[in-house]
Amino acid sequence: MIAVRATNADKASESAYLQFRTMVPGSPGYVELMQLGEAHLLASHKEEKFVTRACEMGFSLPVPIQTFYLNTLGKWHRCINIRALAEHILVKYPHKLLAGHSCADKTSFYHVMEEFWRAFRLYNANHPVFADFANNLRHCIPMKIHIDEGTGLRRAAVNQFSWGPLLSSSPNSLDRYFFWSCMNGEEYKNANAGYERGNAILDEVSERLAAQAQSVYLEGVSCPGIGKLHFVWVALEGDLPAQARALHCKRNFNCMPDQLCPWCHADDLQVPFTDFRPVAAWRRTVGASRPWTTESPMLGIAGAGHEVFLAKDLFHLCHLGAVRGFAVNVLCYLATMAHFEGNNIPDKLSSAYGEFKRFCTSKGATPMVKHFTKDNLGWSSLNSYPQCSFKGSDTRLILGFVLQIMLNPRVALDDIASEALLAASAMDDFLRLIFGLKDNTGCKQALLSRQEGSRALVLLKTWIEKIY
Ligand SMILES: [Zn+2]
Repeated sequence: MIAVRATNADKASESAYLQFRTMVPGSPGYVELMQLGEAHLLASHKEEKFVTRACEMGFSLPVPIQTFYLNTLGKWHRCINIRALAEHILVKYPHKLLAGHSCADKTSFYHVMEEFWRAFRLYNANHPVFADFANNLRHCIPMKIHIDEGTGLRRAAVNQFSWGPLLSSSPNSLDRYFFWSCMNGEEYKNANAGYERGNAILDEVSERLAAQAQSVYLEGVSCPGIGKLHFVWVALEGDLPAQARALHCKRNFNCMPDQLCPWCHADDLQVPFTDFRPVAAWRRTVGASRPWTTESPMLGIAGAGHEVFLAKDLFHLCHLGAVRGFAVNVLCYLATMAHFEGNNIPDKLSSAYGEFKRFCTSKGATPMVKHFTKDNLGWSSLNSYPQCSFKGSDTRLILGFVLQIMLNPRVALDDIASEALLAASAMDDFLRLIFGLKDNTGCKQALLSRQEGSRALVLLKTWIEKIY
């Protein structure tokens, strides 16, 4: 898909041109880049030529870009209509939405859907799908929405909206997330009015998203050979700020010491969130009240009116959250405990990176992080905890690395490191169970067996008891 603005098209043709000039003729992509780069040599109309060429080469989707006017922003905004894209996918690549099955293999697809809803009912029996499509669950596909404020060029914020099936045909994110829209942080940041009140501009965008999502739920989407398929929205994925903003959560991660959990009444006062005992007070408050006081436009989606709709997004909570902090803390702790060569911390971190690099090579992985320094680990002094912004995929590598060091019988561990070893090993096993051996690929399976579920719970319990 090419959805480029004119100036980007100009840049893209230049980039294609520069790349093809460095390639050996005949290597993969050579001809395509040469054709795309042709526009760069024109004196004028570069953008037009580039876009026409890209379309001719089949690099554009035959799905129209929908335009709508945002009153709060006073501008037109664009999205890829959910129904239009879904119908295109169902014609061209149906397996991407049919949990890996083809239209011809209806029986297997129906079986997976019925299995899914049987399991999901145990988790959320109040979802409207069980009333609206009680006798037609085999034509209901569980879907999720993903909203995330990521960083674009020069670290500028970009809010991105996408959607995708819960049961995917492959772990590749291209098969799991389909673009809906995005907006630069510059355009909406002045409308931030706190999580509870939301952001008027993003809310107006959400209103459009909700209307499209609700339409493919109620009216369904046509699938050749199968008929109408209803897209059932069961989760909102994303980081905690994006989730809190989208659903106007008064109770959110930012509220410490007051109630800070969207799913229960835990706080840092009377109902401590650090209490993991079976008798912990917060357990009795799970689902007791909604975390918002004003309704967000997202509630226009059937199923979004309860906080269970907020996914416990493991990638954000683990890879970019608690596990990243933990792995980096252990790394720094090992550096202070003289586990790496060097006469001072910067030297030790540098030799730690050398060891880490060798560890990654042995696993056939390439880390995104290119060195360890006090600066990039966010470790300002020995009295402070390091805090970094490494990529999620690096979290898993660093966790594996510190685990390997601590598992070495020749390495002497003090009490802290011994506890850290138990926590690291429990978390590593947990992530392996949920995500499989490779990472950055999403859940390998949406449903766990009873045995896998209890194992996951034991591992999480060990992790949480050891890190606090
Ligand atoms: Zn809670």
